[in-house]
Amino acid sequence: MSVNLQTSIDYLKGVGPNRAELFRKELGIHTYQDLINLFPNRYIDRTQFYKINDLERNNADVQIIGKLKSLKEVAQKRGKRLVATFQDETGMMELVWFRGQKWIKEGLELNKIYVAFGKTNWFSGKFNMAHPEMELLEEHKANMRTAMQPVYPSTEKLTNRGITNRLINKIMQQLFLETKGKFTETLSDNLRTELKLIDKQTALFNIHFPRNQELLAKAEFRLKFEELFYIQLQLIIKNLIHKSKIKGFPFNQVGKYFNAFFKNHLPFNLTNAQKRVLKEIRADLGSNAQMNRLLQGDVGSGKTIVAFMSMLMALDNGFQACLMAPTEILAAQHYNGLLEWCNKLEIQIKLLTGSTKTSSRRIIHEALENGELHILIGTHALLEDKVKFKNLGLAVIDEQHRFGVKQRSKLWQKNALPPHILVMTATPIPRTLAMSVYGDLDISVIDELPPGRKSIKTVHRFDKNRLDVFRFIRDEIDKGRQIYIVYPLIQENEHMDYKDLMDGYESISRDFPMPKYQISIVHGKMKAADKDYEMQRFIKGETQIMVATTVIEVGVNVPNASVMIVESAERFGLSQLHQLRGRVGRGAEQSFCILMTSQKLSANSKTRLETMVKTNDGFQIAEVDLHLRGPGDIMGTQQSGVLNLKIADIIKDNDVLQLARYHAKTILKNDPAMAQPENQVFLNTYKSMAKYKNIWNYIS
Ligand code: ADP
Ligand code: MG
Repeated sequence: MSVNLQTSIDYLKGVGPNRAELFRKELGIHTYQDLINLFPNRYIDRTQFYKINDLERNNADVQIIGKLKSLKEVAQKRGKRLVATFQDETGMMELVWFRGQKWIKEGLELNKIYVAFGKTNWFSGKFNMAHPEMELLEEHKANMRTAMQPVYPSTEKLTNRGITNRLINKIMQQLFLETKGKFTETLSDNLRTELKLIDKQTALFNIHFPRNQELLAKAEFRLKFEELFYIQLQLIIKNLIHKSKIKGFPFNQVGKYFNAFFKNHLPFNLTNAQKRVLKEIRADLGSNAQMNRLLQGDVGSGKTIVAFMSMLMALDNGFQACLMAPTEILAAQHYNGLLEWCNKLEIQIKLLTGSTKTSSRRIIHEALENGELHILIGTHALLEDKVKFKNLGLAVIDEQHRFGVKQRSKLWQKNALPPHILVMTATPIPRTLAMSVYGDLDISVIDELPPGRKSIKTVHRFDKNRLDVFRFIRDEIDKGRQIYIVYPLIQENEHMDYKDLMDGYESISRDFPMPKYQISIVHGKMKAADKDYEMQRFIKGETQIMVATTVIEVGVNVPNASVMIVESAERFGLSQLHQLRGRVGRGAEQSFCILMTSQKLSANSKTRLETMVKTNDGFQIAEVDLHLRGPGDIMGTQQSGVLNLKIADIIKDNDVLQLARYHAKTILKNDPAMAQPENQVFLNTYKSMAKYKNIWNYIS
């Protein structure tokens, strides 16, 4: 190849330093290579020409051949606009520019035949076209025009500075001229033959200058596949490196604790999903590599017992285990739950949180270091430097989305060898996303609820129906049930939200007066001890109603609570609503979730509420959430780099992703070093991506 694709775009004819700077700043394009990988967002069929008379009031981009009759500047409120009259044999219309008049005017010639291209607007009984692209008819004919006209991503700044779609198109042509359209193949012949993928050169040519629909489709498929394939290849290699480099403690034995629990104390039959996941964990723990596993399971699917039995595997091999939860309430709940089982097995377990007294803390630290303590449950407090284990073998992290990668690795540093890590999350990440984002974690899924669960009935009610809702609450309380009423607490608006909560609490206290009714209240501004006191009253059944902000979102388990009322439900995200709903439906009784909203709802809120009413399936909800919010929002900014895809769409191209992952896996399985001749091309591409493109950006 004569032209080096790492050449800076400054050197491309027609670009020059000023435009190059804009390309760099606005589109992140530095080199020829970057420019080739600027893929069009969409294509417009430019084989059709419209007559002014035949225009319709729609949103399509159209092109019209006509004569430029007049050109004048018209003063308006701010500045002026440039208006042209444009005529064909059927009629007249106006062309309008609000910005960049100077260079547009200079570029236009009166009484010449142009092709005007753009969207038409219907304004006071006439059509006009704002900011059309203008091209002399002769030029239009002479150009490397194809049936499908690409539309490139742009920014307002680029457009205002004269870098139009047409110009990008021209520059792209120049690039193909200079490089003679020769690009190195990046997929092996074998793979291309097997999947009927077109070659790289044809794909790149047709993505920019599609000859026809069919070739365009093939080009898109090939390039999407390639993009996803190399991301998967990276992720899988990373995972393999992790497994071979990072040794873990092999837990060889299934010993007395596990067996005793399994034989004598199992409180219920495990679901098949729980058994399967335990086997997966067991296989990891028995190997020499350090486990790094994500356990996904909907709320109430029974992750806790899986975590506990995994801990027993650690204990059986002479190691300690810990469980870290995001809130004190949740940590305490885990502790109380596990304490019962531990007592039966004579296992030493303790709770350590921010509010643990110094004197108890000292005892815990000591027992932890001399190995008397087997299991430690707690919050972030576990990460403090003072907390030293004798030999931590397994760390379980509950509700993963609240802990960052950094915190995960902080646990590692507590040992000579890193402990095995089990991360549990009840916010199902759509499989698609998990696969692309958490390539470095192995994933287990509990996709089955324990038997006998009645599915929760969810309804949406408007605030004006509150009296009916209160009547319903009263009936449920009469039947001996307990009720949650949750208010939003959104950081930016904390003051207002707090007021809403207190107002709500007062009004509820009026409608549900003492002594017949007892109400607990829990919110973020309370001291931990007070929170705990109120929680305990509710857990013990001394209060029938729990008024709270979202502090109860995660993990609280009160089986007798059967009604979840969410106030201002339109302000909650889908996954939060699903989490909240998961607080009920834990006992034998039919449970209900009532989503209260005001009358005014955005389309987005409506979809969220409808989804909640329609399904209890966390994975389905996660998929809807992904569509509504986009992957970046869901994963948080630090991971969004992964989703910075050039051509593929992680949601729409899920099937391509699966295919790419499958093949990346197969290739690495058969030839981990990519040493075989037919795999050389993968190795080379992989290396050059790491060198130039910094593909590690994809992986965060
Ligand atoms: P989560 O996955 O939300 O953490 P938990 O582990 O808290 O769920 O379990 C929810 C409830 O279901 C608990 O009360 C637990 O004891 C119960 N449970 C878990 N597994 C089973 C099972 N296989 N059969 C019956 N009940 C179960
Ligand atoms: Mg849980």
